[in-house]
Amino acid sequence: MTSPQHITHWIAGRPWAGTAERRGDVYDPATGQVGGQVDLAAADVVDQAVGAALDAFGQWRHASVAKRTSVLFAFRELLNAHREELAAIIVSEHGKVHSDALGEIARGLEVVEYACGVPHLLKGGFTEQASTGIDVYSLRQPLGPVAVISPFNFPAMVPMWFFPLAIAAGNTVVVKPSEKDPSAANYLAALWREAGLPDGVFNVVHGDKPAVDRLLEHPDIKAVSFVGSTPIARYVYETATRHGKRVQALGGAKNHMLVLPDADLDLAADAAVNAGYGAAGERCMAVSVLVAVDPVGDDLVERIRQRIAGLTVGPGSAPESQMGPLVTGVHRDKVSSYLDAGVADGAELAVDGRKHPLSDAAAGSGFWLGPTLFDRVRPGMSVYDDEIFGPVLSVVRVPSYDEGLALINANPYGNGTALFTNDGGAARRFQHEVEVGMVGINVPIPVPVAYYSFGGWKSSLFGDTHAYGEDGVKFFTRGKAVTQRWLDPSHGGINLGFPTHS
Ligand code: NAD
Repeated sequence: MTSPQHITHWIAGRPWAGTAERRGDVYDPATGQVGGQVDLAAADVVDQAVGAALDAFGQWRHASVAKRTSVLFAFRELLNAHREELAAIIVSEHGKVHSDALGEIARGLEVVEYACGVPHLLKGGFTEQASTGIDVYSLRQPLGPVAVISPFNFPAMVPMWFFPLAIAAGNTVVVKPSEKDPSAANYLAALWREAGLPDGVFNVVHGDKPAVDRLLEHPDIKAVSFVGSTPIARYVYETATRHGKRVQALGGAKNHMLVLPDADLDLAADAAVNAGYGAAGERCMAVSVLVAVDPVGDDLVERIRQRIAGLTVGPGSAPESQMGPLVTGVHRDKVSSYLDAGVADGAELAVDGRKHPLSDAAAGSGFWLGPTLFDRVRPGMSVYDDEIFGPVLSVVRVPSYDEGLALINANPYGNGTALFTNDGGAARRFQHEVEVGMVGINVPIPVPVAYYSFGGWKSSLFGDTHAYGEDGVKFFTRGKAVTQRWLDPSHGGINLGFPTHS
């Protein structure tokens, strides 16, 4: 057996040379073996990373927009050229299938490409002769060192929702990836160095709560972009804002897909399976509740059951696999416990993922659980109320569109939702009435393209700005308005009154 790989921080353009007091195990979810050990930063190591980011900010904030753009283009080219290697790293630590890892890289790349347009994105306004002899214009300037704290489920894409725009706008960055799959961030750091980004503009610290807490309170960190579960998102928002920082904290989700009786049921069943079991349900935009409007429930459950029977579950590195394992044994066991709870609460277990052959072989050989389908689920059952974050899809039956909408709007989360219908009027009404941040019409995972912004409502986001797109540019810059006059012979002399226009 090979010894576990050692994964350490990336500070000021190189791997950290210190010795960590604590380390965490990083698993290969397909085998259950420890593949790596990651250094977990104490506060002093976080301080080193923030110090490097602060030093680099002194230079990077003055780098021309042309220079920043050329580095971003170089990074884009390198990322595109190395996507296979990065995907293999993601598969080995997260467990998702290779094509899905390539998909997350592609969606991150989109944000890099959007950030390549930074000359246009940072253009301010200019008003000539706002008052007589006076022009007014606006600038957007960087904030300083910023922190990006990310979850395990998208080790490349989620950091890329933030750092391309942060760097393009002239900020410097400290990324704190999930300690469960830390290596993708280091790979991205090496690509930045190759792209010509000055040392210290992009840093990575690995760790858990102590590292996060130090970032949240560090006086030189000016903004925090967080993505993770709702309790931690709320904690991060409250703690970092108390320390005077700008914060966007994206939380968990319980995404409902509403199927009206006029929908194309094959399309809806395909979508439910893709969005329910893709990445083993470990997506914040996964569909976890299918709301079937009478009378299509029986028909939909049957179509989904048939599709599940045809799914190939297996190691992410095997080309034929469509769904991989869960990220850790602890998480697999937690997800699995919901199956007992659902049955005890009176839901019908239509497909039991524990009966999947790989699940049987689970002991010591990977964190497997097959796709699971519950029917006749109701609010108040834990399978409905909790974010399970695994391959468990619940079907709730409702008598009408109105009851389906009311169910979605009563849910504390508001990340994503989807409506399946052939009725344009119903679709138009739904997008108007539903209290959710991202809406799909016959699209099950409506992650917006990079030039719109990503973000949920209610307990799925704490803060005012969404990720990337125009909101991202705003988040990573401060506005400044300049009022200028160049002296001419009619400057007007002394006037102690409040400036008014003439
Ligand atoms: P998590 O909340 O456990 O961890 C997220 C980050 O917070 C990690 O970097 C982790 O090290 C850190 N962290 C964990 N516990 C902490 C604590 N007590 N104090 C300070 N920091 C702490 O989330 P996860 O399990 O890695 O990711 C899955 C969750 O992320 C799900 O709830 C999912 O819905 C959510 N998510 C949301 C979005 C979104 O866009 N809204 C996107 C992806 C994932």
